[in-house]
Amino acid sequence: MDRTLRGVGVSHGVAIGQVRRMGTAVLEPPATQIPSEDAPREQARAQQAVDAVAADLIARGNLAGGEAQGVLEAQALMAQDPELMADVQRRITVGSSAERGVYDAFAAYRALLASAGEYLAGRVADLDDVRNRIVARLLGVPMPGVPDSDEPYVLFARDLAPADTALLDPTLVLGFVTEEGGPTSHSAILARAMGVPAVVALPGATSVTEGVVVAVDGSSGEVLIDPSEEKQAELRRAAAERKAALASSSGPGQTSDGHRVPLLANVGGPADVPAALAAGAEGVGLFRTEFLFLDDSAKAPSEERQIDAYRKVLEAFPEGRVVVRALDAGADKPLDFLTPADEPNPALGVRGLRTLLEHPEVLDTQLRALAKAAEGLPVHLEVMAPMVADRVDAKAFADACRKAGLQAKFGAMVEIPSAALRARSILEEVEFLSLGTNDLAQYTFAADRQVGSLARLQDPWQPALLDLIALSAEAAKATGKSCGVCGEAASDPLLACVLTGLGVTSLSMGAASIPYVRAALAKVTLAQCARAAEAARATDTADEARAAAQHVLSGE
Ligand code: PEP
Ligand code: MG
Repeated sequence: MDRTLRGVGVSHGVAIGQVRRMGTAVLEPPATQIPSEDAPREQARAQQAVDAVAADLIARGNLAGGEAQGVLEAQALMAQDPELMADVQRRITVGSSAERGVYDAFAAYRALLASAGEYLAGRVADLDDVRNRIVARLLGVPMPGVPDSDEPYVLFARDLAPADTALLDPTLVLGFVTEEGGPTSHSAILARAMGVPAVVALPGATSVTEGVVVAVDGSSGEVLIDPSEEKQAELRRAAAERKAALASSSGPGQTSDGHRVPLLANVGGPADVPAALAAGAEGVGLFRTEFLFLDDSAKAPSEERQIDAYRKVLEAFPEGRVVVRALDAGADKPLDFLTPADEPNPALGVRGLRTLLEHPEVLDTQLRALAKAAEGLPVHLEVMAPMVADRVDAKAFADACRKAGLQAKFGAMVEIPSAALRARSILEEVEFLSLGTNDLAQYTFAADRQVGSLARLQDPWQPALLDLIALSAEAAKATGKSCGVCGEAASDPLLACVLTGLGVTSLSMGAASIPYVRAALAKVTLAQCARAAEAARATDTADEARAAAQHVLSGE
């Protein structure tokens, strides 16, 4: 019997497949005493689980290759550490169950590392991950982290952090459904980058049964549990027809009366370039360089590695525009070597440009690497800073770019309401603005972008957000400079028309959204976009704004 659940659709398309759940952190096993005659059996169980986890880590390492392989092999060694294993066996002898023995032995080892002054967050996180894997296996619950599967599946999770997804095999993930996460969460961004349908903020997502077939509609936000064969066929047919219609749209982004709005791609590294090219991206509007840093969060990638990655992206767009964002670490993208571990409120703490100004060596290396990567290429390189609060921030970033000898335009992201309110003063220091509407919504509404229950406030159609976008675009126009949008707002086809009407000069999004936005823009004139923007801003809620824009643009 099919059942329909409703969340927020954040990445278009329909995915049909079996549910695989992402295991969450393991609960503490009960500390009940076992009878002494059970000890040998429990000891054997513990040994078996440790061996299986070590073998699994090595196999995953072989699959992943590169730096991830080294990390996973080191974790396998941790699992089989003879002293740790001896402690597990000893604890079982005096009455612990296998899972409790593992849990307590790892806790003691963790404390030992700390007292020896070796409290390296990276090692401790790896140690906890190994413990969780062994305990999960012993308890018979899903492994924490990405599911093990050779078959394609729909991934169900509480939420997805960038680090969780490093080992995700894009050929196996048909779509995502998460319980938490708003339209601007990393789950949503990742789904768009991978071009797979996704629904977020779906209450009860983590209790959907493993293995059941679901149909995920990433546009409407509906998730059908166990749909009939006829329903599956109907959904597949509709999705194929829509895809075919979109594939026929091509060329640069423009309204029906020829007003050009370059459609650019958001990328996380060279791996995202083929999809951007296939979608006809006119360049890159946001290169999220932090993904290069997530492989090993204990140190920065070398200058050579950075040059190599930047060059591969720059080479893909000869004559095109590539906007590289300086490292945006902190808050939902913490890096062990940069992000303070004890901030009371990381989203309001040292993140983005603030981190770079506290660690100028990281910024200087990155800018130098970019300058070398761009040498001799005909690309239009632009570099921007995340989380610029005011003119002082903008000047500090522009100074650092000049010092690095970068032949590029320097820009500022508008992600904090203060930057939108004082956009003109920021434009005294930099040459362009780029609206990061995900964070701009988060900070305008004081609504954490990772909290699914606040999705209403993270809705980019909120009129207050449209007002801040309008302020930024007007400031750029008055100074003859450009103001793009690279937040997720740009990937909503209807909203893309409204943004154009507000005066935004380019739209950057996950590659999979480009055909949808291109098709929507091609149907309307600039004057209609401006009227839709005005109508949306005249309302008081996101739903009303959407309806008002729809009314104007469809000519109803
Ligand atoms: C944004 O905040 O809108 C943005 C583009 O940056 P990120 O999503 O990477 O924080
Ligand atoms: Mg941001």
